[in-house]
Parts: sequence; structure tokens; C-alpha cells
Amino acid sequence: MVIYDSKERKKVPFKPEFEKRARLYLCGPTVYDEAHLGHARSAISFDLLRRTLQMHGFEVRFVRNITDVDDKILQKMERTKESLEAIAARYTEAYHRDMAALNVATPDLEPKATAHIPQMVALIEALLEKNHAYRVENGDVYFDTASDPRYGTLSKEAQDETLSRVESGSKRNSRDFVLWKAVTADERVFFESPFGPGRPGWHLECSAMLQTHLYEPGANYACDIHAGGADLFFPHHENEAAQSRCGYGGEIAKYWMHNGFVRIGGEKMSKSLGNSFFIHEALTHWPAEALRFYLMSVHYRAPLHFCDSDLLASRKRLDRLYRLKKQLFGLKVAAPEAAFKKALLGAMGDDLNTSKALAVIDEMVHRANELLVGKPDKGTKAALAGNLALIGELLGVALADPFEWFQWGVSRADREQIEQLIAERKAAKAAKDFDRADAIRKALTAQGIALMDLPGQTVWERL
Ligand SMILES: [Zn+2]
Repeated sequence: MVIYDSKERKKVPFKPEFEKRARLYLCGPTVYDEAHLGHARSAISFDLLRRTLQMHGFEVRFVRNITDVDDKILQKMERTKESLEAIAARYTEAYHRDMAALNVATPDLEPKATAHIPQMVALIEALLEKNHAYRVENGDVYFDTASDPRYGTLSKEAQDETLSRVESGSKRNSRDFVLWKAVTADERVFFESPFGPGRPGWHLECSAMLQTHLYEPGANYACDIHAGGADLFFPHHENEAAQSRCGYGGEIAKYWMHNGFVRIGGEKMSKSLGNSFFIHEALTHWPAEALRFYLMSVHYRAPLHFCDSDLLASRKRLDRLYRLKKQLFGLKVAAPEAAFKKALLGAMGDDLNTSKALAVIDEMVHRANELLVGKPDKGTKAALAGNLALIGELLGVALADPFEWFQWGVSRADREQIEQLIAERKAAKAAKDFDRADAIRKALTAQGIALMDLPGQTVWERL
């Protein structure tokens, strides 16, 4: 398998530290608001990485954290007068709900920052001890970036001494970042520590959680792949790398992977720009799988320019998979076709080349439809059903009931009315009242509902 390593800025073969085992860390959400499309893209990109590694025979340990103490949550507390716990619990639950809808598999472990304060304090103590950190007058503890000769080597955001040296203020260097923020008189959220009451800096949280849950004694790297959005490369990941290197004595990650931005109307997807598009809002307009399929249709490293017409095109592409699934419904599922499996795994194993993978799928669907016209034997059909099962397992799409897929967005009241009319039509046919039966079909067609008579039952779909 080949991945693009952001540190090396090129594709490299993936060779984990321990044979056939992959340790993955993904920076998770800060739970102060609903998740937006940028969160969805990051989660889906690395869900695909995890699935691809598993299919390539790696045993994966996947850790994705929850940042549940941060300035943004504190600001929200100010506005809503709720507790930190209440806000964090609500948005963690919302995040889980959205991720489940998008078929993002649950991580093996989801550590919360507030449950790792002792580990964070220990890391700060080690950094102070080794003179990589310093305290300032108000009680804050900073990381001394000038003390790490390798600071800046990850993101290549070179450290310019002449520009970054600050003459005044509490920090020694403008790039120095806070490890521990001392509590101020009006703040209600703080933890006790040897350096006084306060709370951890955001960068520090990930280093401590990653080390706690992925480092193994004797390893040169605390994890194999550290992943996150491109906006985290600098300073977040650079700072994580520096703290871990200086505090724990080893590199934090062997490889780094970053997903591209989601842009709407040419703007980067970001809360501060006020153009965010919440996942739960998108899911009232589109089936979750269509959104997932769309977000994965653009290579994870490229920027994604969100637009409805592209999303509609993706949905139609996914519809074709579901039409095939319909034709194979209820049949035996066997192993997928060997050539198809090889092509699909090969595409995904090439730095998650989803464009290629989707082209392989389109070609398979086209071929399957031609095969099915010729009424193939059971074995052929079972292998085609196996192809669909493989797509579901590797890409997390085409997993729904194919009949329900085409009924998406129909209200419960309308459903009941449709079922009622289908029953009336059946009765009319039994009574040989074919005019009535025909009239019912026409009335439903006018409502945008198509009927299909299958052996023993009539099914419907939204046109
Ligand atoms: Zn992080």
C-alpha cells in the first residue's frame, strides 16, 4: 500500500513499525457546536483509510479524540450559561449521530481530553524539567520553540528568528504556544496541577492522548499514521510533534496524512467565515449515503468545492449501484469477482484513489447490467452480489435496502397512502376490475410514484 506522507511531500510505501499492525490517530472534533461538512470530510477520508488498511490485511488500532475542554467551549458556556459537561455531552452525541448516519465506523478508542489531565500534567512537568518549557508571570506555561532545533521541520513553516523573536510581552518567541493556561478570576473551569489551577492547551491534549493510547514500549514512533485536516498541519501538528519529541523523547508519528478543505462558494469551510454547512442540515435534503459518496468522489487531498449539482450527480451515480442491488435482491452472496476485487483494492491502496475506485465500480455496474440481460447462472449473480458486498465493506456505501433507497424523502403519511392504494389495486385486480387497477397506477405515477410488480408483491419507488 502506498500513501502520501505530508512530511515527505510525496507518496511512500506504508511500512508500519510493527509488522501487519497499523496504529492510527485522527484529531477529532472540539465539541462546542454541530459538526459541519469539513468534519464529515475528515472523518470519511480516514474511515476509508482504516477500511482500506484492514482490507489490505493490516490489524488497525484507530484512535480519534474528543476535545472537551477548549476556549471555544468556554465561550459557549458564557453565552448559554450551561456547564462544560452539558455542552460537551450534547455535541459529542450530535457528532456521533452524524457520523453513524454517514457510515463512519466507530473508532477503537475515543479518548476525551478531560479524562487525561494527569497525563497532560506529567508531559508538562517533563518539558519543564528538560528546559523545553517555561512559566510566565500570570502562571501560564509555554513551550519554548527555540529549544527544539527540529521545530518547523514537519510542516516546513520555517522558524524565522528575526521575525518571531518578540521583545515585549510574556512569551519569549511569537511561535511559543501555551501548554497550561492559568485560570483567571472569572473562570469556572479549571483543574489542579503542580503549576497552579488552570487548563491544558489544545495542542498538548493530542500529544498526551496519543502517547497514552498508541505508544508501545520500544517503538520509535508513538503511532504509525497521524491524520487530520490540512488546517491542522500548522501549527497544531507541528506543536504536537515538538512537545512529544521533547517530552517523551520519540517522534510522534511515522507518517502524516491531511485531507483537503471543503469550500462553499469559493470560501474555505470554516466556522469563522460563517459559511458552514452543518451535516444535520444537509441530511434533511439528501440521503446520508449520497453525501458520503459525494464527499469521497473527490480525492481526499484535493479541495472539494461543494455544490448541489455535483452532489446530485453523485447521487445518480449511487442510484445505479442500487439498481443493480435491486436486481440481485434476495439472492445468494458469494465471494466477489477476483479481478474486480484486485482493481478496487488496488485503487484504494494507491493513496486512497477514490476517483479510480469509482471508475472501477462504474465499469463493473455497466458490465453487470449487460450480463444480467443474458440471464446468467446463479453463480455469476452471486459473484455480482459479492461485488456489492465488497463495495459496502470497503467504501461504506450501497449498504441500505435497495427498495427503501428509492423511497427516500417520502413522508410517513404519504407512505401509508401509497401502501393503501397498492392494496386497493391488488384487490381490484383480484376482482378482475382492471380499469380500477389501472387508474390507481396512473394516479400514483402522477404523484411521482412508480409501481413495479414482482413475483408475489408490488414495490414502489419515488421517481
Ligand atoms: Zn490533534
